[in-house]
Amino acid sequence: MTNILSGRDIAQKIIDENLKPRVEKLKKKSLPSTPIGGIQPKLVVILIGEHPASASYVKQKEKFAAQAGIISDVRRFDTSITEADVLKEIEGINNDDAIHGVIVQLPIPDHISVEKVLRKIDPRKDVDGFTPTNVGKLFLGEECLQSCTPKGIIMMLDSAGVKIEGKNAVVIGRSNIVGKPISGLLINRNATVTTCHRHTSNLDEHLKNADILVVAVGKPKFITGDKLKKGCVVIDVGINRQEDGTLCGDVDFESAKDVASLITPVPGGVGPMTVVSLIENTIKSAEA
Ligand code: NAP
Repeated sequence: MTNILSGRDIAQKIIDENLKPRVEKLKKKSLPSTPIGGIQPKLVVILIGEHPASASYVKQKEKFAAQAGIISDVRRFDTSITEADVLKEIEGINNDDAIHGVIVQLPIPDHISVEKVLRKIDPRKDVDGFTPTNVGKLFLGEECLQSCTPKGIIMMLDSAGVKIEGKNAVVIGRSNIVGKPISGLLINRNATVTTCHRHTSNLDEHLKNADILVVAVGKPKFITGDKLKKGCVVIDVGINRQEDGTLCGDVDFESAKDVASLITPVPGGVGPMTVVSLIENTIKSAEA
C-alpha cells in the first residue's frame, strides 16, 4: 500500500462529492433578492502585476472554481495602481451582493500596504481567512472562514483517517498564513503542538518526537528522512523551484518516504488542498 497522501486526489473527491452538490443546491435556492434564479457563488481574485508564481496559482484557482461550478472573476491591475484605488476596488466588492468571496493574490507591490488591503476586506467575504476577525476566531475555535492552507491540511488529515487528538504535532515555521494558524487548528483538535522557527535551538530533538510534522519553511529539502520519527505523518507545505525548473518541497521526499507512515508529495500535496479550501470558503460564504 502506498504511503503517499495525494492532495490532488482528495481535492478532486471533495469537489465532486461535496462542493458540486452544494453549488447545485444554491443555484436552486429562491430568495426575495434573486427571484428568478438562485445563488451562484462568485469569487473575485485581485491580481496586481505579473508575478509568474501568482499567475500559475490563479490559474489553478480558476480551474477548481469552474469544476465546482462557481464563478471566478480575475481582476488584473498594473503594478502602477495606487493603494487608494485598490482599497476602492475592495470597497466596491464588499458592497456587491453578487460577490461572495474576494482574495488579493500576494505578493503585491511594495507601495501598497498588505495590512491595509487585507483589513479592508469584509470578513464575511474574506475567503483567504487573513483578516484579524477570521484569524482571531480561528484561534478561539469559533466558526469562521479559516485560512486556506491550514484548513486544507486538516481536511487532508481527516480524509486520510489520521488521528490528531493526543498526538505530538511539530510545526516548523510560524508565518501568519501557515505556521501559526495550523498550530492553532492542531491545538483545537487536541494535539500537543510545538511550533519551531529560526530561533529554535534543538530542532532535531523536536523532530524525533513528532507524530505529525508540518513543514512550512520555504527551503528546498530542508528536512531529511534521518531526522524523522519512524512512522510519523509528514505534511510538506513548501513549494520551491529547483535549478532544473522542477518543484520540490521543504522535505527531502526520497529519504523521508521510507520513514514516514504518510507523506505529501510536492507538487500534488498541500497545494490542491489550499485551492479546494478557498473554493469551499466561497461556497460557505454564499450559503451564509
Ligand atoms: P515564510 O513566511 O517565509 O515563513 C517561513 C518560516 O520558516 C518562518 O517562520 C521562519 O522562522 C521559519 N524558518 C526559516 N528558516 C528556518 C530554520 N532554519 N529553522 C527553523 N525555522 C525556519 O513562509 P510561508 O509563507 O509560511 O511559506 C513557507 C513555504 O510554504 C514556502 O515554500 C511557500 O511557498 C509555501 N507555501 C505553500 C502553500 C501551499 O498551498 N502549498 C501555501 C503557502 C505557502 P522565523 O519566523 O524565525 O523567521
